[in-house]
Amino acid sequence: MTTVAAYAAPAAKAPLERTTIERREVGAHDVLIDVKYSGICHSDIHQAREGWGEAIFPMVPGHEIAGVVTEVGPAVSRFAVGDRVGVGCMVDSCRECESCRAGQEQYCTGGGMVGTYNALDKNGEPTYGGYAEKIVVDENYVVGIPEGLGLDEAAPLLCAGITLYSPLKHWNAGPGKKVAILGMGGLGHMGVKIAHALGAEVTVLSQSLRKKDDGLKLGADHYYATSDPRTFEELAGTFDLIVSTVSVPLDLAAYLALLKSDGALVNVGAPEEPISLNLFSLISGRKTLAGSAIGGIAETQEMLDFCAEHGFGAEIELIRADQINEAYERVLASDVRYRFVIDTSTI
Ligand SMILES: [Zn+2]
Ligand SMILES: [Zn+2]
Repeated sequence: MTTVAAYAAPAAKAPLERTTIERREVGAHDVLIDVKYSGICHSDIHQAREGWGEAIFPMVPGHEIAGVVTEVGPAVSRFAVGDRVGVGCMVDSCRECESCRAGQEQYCTGGGMVGTYNALDKNGEPTYGGYAEKIVVDENYVVGIPEGLGLDEAAPLLCAGITLYSPLKHWNAGPGKKVAILGMGGLGHMGVKIAHALGAEVTVLSQSLRKKDDGLKLGADHYYATSDPRTFEELAGTFDLIVSTVSVPLDLAAYLALLKSDGALVNVGAPEEPISLNLFSLISGRKTLAGSAIGGIAETQEMLDFCAEHGFGAEIELIRADQINEAYERVLASDVRYRFVIDTSTI
């Protein structure tokens, strides 16, 4: 075991504080990663405050991890000491079910994926995430960060990036397609960049026009305020695909009305409350209401390579570890452009 410094929530809703945790010995298939940067995802806050149900404490959040390999186990074949690598939302899965074999480990049906934090590993030990100096991960759940992507701007790609890339690819965002990104936050800003790079015509649907200049700069062709009722008149029947990053309950019927026939509204944001919908909104126009969760390991690598090739990472605000609690409040107030990233050398 190795003792490493970390930031942890000692109990639900308690502020995060500096502490130490134990990392397991580097096993045959493991790599030891010196964490350089760790992004702050909205779901870190949901989980540290038990917004999604009972959680495991102490909790070291963080599933947007970028760092450098400092040790490899004897059976490791994909990575070497000195490699720049990333770890996202999962660190293991059953590896045998249909989803795992298809490279969709995030949809593992053999017990589910093992979360990078707030989960139990196969030995029943709690997993601790990236707000820490080091992490030990099986090489099959590690991805390479291409040269040309800064480790700081790459970190948020491991959750926010893949969360948008996977549905945009699955629903064929590309040339000739009209894609709307609903919400212009940590997830949404990545949606704009990726959909634009895929060649789609991109519209941002945001509550206000406050971030319009940013949206257009990041690749949006159009930008509308959802607080303005005229938006819904003007854009009726427009989109092939809408990806909603919003995590509060929405009037889904109003957004489904913005789709063309055969269009899809895909949710990647997760409201805590159930929603209701009149199904005529789907029947009329053969529309799809769907959801999507991150992406598989191979697809995460593909996404990183795609971002590097197109020359972009996330838009970030770099913070020190002692600013984490303040950053959480600012995330909740939508006061971040567009992702906080912790410089883990300050832990
Ligand atoms: Zn996340
Ligand atoms: Zn599985």
